[in-house]
Amino acid sequence: AKTNGINRVVEYESKLRDIFVKRIRLENDLKTAVGNNEFSLYYQPKVNLRTGEISVEALIRWKHPQLGMVSPAEFIPIAEETSVIEEIGKWVLQQSCHDFRWLHSSGFSTLKIAVNLSARQFIDSSLKTTVANIFANTNVPPSSFVFEITETTIMKEPNEVIRILKSLKEQGITIAIDDFGVSYSSLNYLNRFPIDAVKIDRSFIRDFHKNEKGAEIVEAIISLAHRLNLSVTAEGVETEDQVRLLAEKGCDEMQGYYFSPPVPLEKLPNVLTKLYSW
Ligand code: C2E
Ligand code: CA
Ligand code: CA
Ligand code: CA
Repeated sequence: AKTNGINRVVEYESKLRDIFVKRIRLENDLKTAVGNNEFSLYYQPKVNLRTGEISVEALIRWKHPQLGMVSPAEFIPIAEETSVIEEIGKWVLQQSCHDFRWLHSSGFSTLKIAVNLSARQFIDSSLKTTVANIFANTNVPPSSFVFEITETTIMKEPNEVIRILKSLKEQGITIAIDDFGVSYSSLNYLNRFPIDAVKIDRSFIRDFHKNEKGAEIVEAIISLAHRLNLSVTAEGVETEDQVRLLAEKGCDEMQGYYFSPPVPLEKLPNVLTKLYSW
């Protein structure tokens, strides 16, 4: 039993070392990933069942030359701890503007694109100008874009973030709160911040059709948001039951594997065409 315990400690230490080594490696390799063209964007549709409107969310993918696909859930937090996230954020907006032009000229002229912004991008005082320049240089109307930011971003520097959000909204950009409901601070900022929409986190959608309490929480979020004139998107919608119930509760927009997983740009026109005729 004693050697067993020691073995377990050794195993644990070697696992920790692996995690640590991988982290250092990712952190290091992230620095050259943009320059080496290792990122790409996938797009996942969001469907408004009432208006028939469809938009898409850009989700970054990293194909590491040796490690293969690395999940954004793994590398974005690392990029956020270094200034690399600013470079990545710029690349994402630039690429999605480029893709917007292509989609636009392929006949999807009303399509809006949502991009994810990290908290760290909001500390950068040049964000407003950077964003304005990218839209101007790519000749894309800012009103075709939605910026998704999380609650934690807002809570970090509320006054500073309000100021930046206002200036982004003045450019015509729509602001949505991502992963809504996950942090405790949700409710008290809702009327203080210049936002347009909330995305209910997948954790609320996952089980809500299976129990009464879950359904009531989602219903409460939707009615509160509507009372504040905010539009509501549900993320992680996977089943027909969820679609039906969310529609019943007045949810405006839905996104999830039920409609489509994130797909590369080349596949997007096909997916969109199918959804429009659905
Ligand atoms: P998120 O913004 O909350 O994005 C939703 C995540 O859920 C995506 O994971 C998406 O692929 C996944 N998803 C969508 N529908 C379903 C579904 O029906 N079921 C399940 N189980 N999952 C679903 P992904 O693409 O791995 O992205 C993870 C997170 O990484 C994102 O969460 C976002 O926070 C971050 N991220 C992705 N792209 C970017 C980016 O360009 N910039 C920044 N700053 N963060 C990004
Ligand atoms: Ca998002
Ligand atoms: Ca989300
Ligand atoms: Ca989420």
